[in-house]
Amino acid sequence: MSARHVLGLFIAILLLNISSVASDLALVHAKIYPSPTEPPITDGTIIVHGDRIDAVGPGTAVKVPPSATVLDCKGFVVTAGFWNSHVHILTPGLLHAEKRSSDDLSSQLEQMFTRWGFTTVFDIASVLDNTNNIRRRIENGEVRGPRVLTVGDPFYPKGGTPVYAKAFLEANHIPSAEVESIPQAVQRVRQQINDGADGIKIFAGAITEHGVLPMPMDLAKAIVLEAHRAGKPVFAHPSNTEGLEVAIQSGVDVLAHTAPMSGDWSPAFVERLKSAHMALIPTLTLFDVEAKKAKVSAEENEMWIKQAVQELKAYSDAGGEILFGTDIGYIDQYDTAEEFTLMSRAGMSMPHILASLTTNPANRFGFSKRSGRIANGMDADLVVLDGDPASDITAFSKVRQVIRQGKVIYPAH
Ligand SMILES: [Zn+2]
Repeated sequence: MSARHVLGLFIAILLLNISSVASDLALVHAKIYPSPTEPPITDGTIIVHGDRIDAVGPGTAVKVPPSATVLDCKGFVVTAGFWNSHVHILTPGLLHAEKRSSDDLSSQLEQMFTRWGFTTVFDIASVLDNTNNIRRRIENGEVRGPRVLTVGDPFYPKGGTPVYAKAFLEANHIPSAEVESIPQAVQRVRQQINDGADGIKIFAGAITEHGVLPMPMDLAKAIVLEAHRAGKPVFAHPSNTEGLEVAIQSGVDVLAHTAPMSGDWSPAFVERLKSAHMALIPTLTLFDVEAKKAKVSAEENEMWIKQAVQELKAYSDAGGEILFGTDIGYIDQYDTAEEFTLMSRAGMSMPHILASLTTNPANRFGFSKRSGRIANGMDADLVVLDGDPASDITAFSKVRQVIRQGKVIYPAH
């Protein structure tokens, strides 16, 4: 081959590469909240190149490349993509994923997660093989959905399969996730992490037909130790005071819920949670949904919510770490507006709530270098809101567009 041929081939390859790269995306005229701690940029521009953020700043300072696809965000607010740190990839529409079309899965994931701005979710109890099937298809581009982290199958104490989940698990032929002995539990922790789990979930207090069943302390400790040995976080479902004790004393990292049954959290208790470096997922809407399901009186319903709100307020006011999470997949109220209203009722400010949706989970789960903020080099995961949460907190639920890894994934086109 002559030098001229080689040069021709080189140019052809170069052109091929250029044309196969998706065009840049430019979000212009937006009010941008780059992070919970930085002031907003009014009339700002964000340039997305590939799956990364290339530039962010005032429109006067950031140049839009001529080839970029421009999204006019005048009148809208842009934040980093949200995290939901308590979901379940366990709905009838997501189970038996190997038999489901990519379109069906995409539409179910959109209804539950992406249309609410969630570009990352932590699934904290499902069926690991099934969840692995879904996230593999999301990552290879076949299915449209969020980044999925998962704990896979949960760990229940013996006899502790929750009463509210039993019928569903049996109807779907999901094998028992109860553990009877320390060696069996440790072996399963190793196996699940080996199979791709990003964390472990224990039922520190499991709600059964005979009341709350705490996980034996030595069992909880052994599970946590094994997960930590692999560098993975442990979530706990606490239920009541005893469950909270098991979570604290065994070294759990994240409380998956507040616990209305445990009563008011005192300053001393809050200090213990803080010194245990515990993160708290409030799931306040859940208690409203459950109260309505149990058909309790309006007064009792309000009492449950008030209790959960008190606990969140106590922990948040004391500077405890809060991670946004709603138990979507267990509850079918996907709309997030009520959760934001209740978090605000617990005294959380807009920047605090934004932190619970972005920087707190990104830091906690080891993604702070790529997720949680709008800055150069970060993942191009963005939410465009039709309203400003600084003046109306429910604007966090008024999602207009969602971008994940540089692609508009909601609305689908
Ligand atoms: Zn849950």
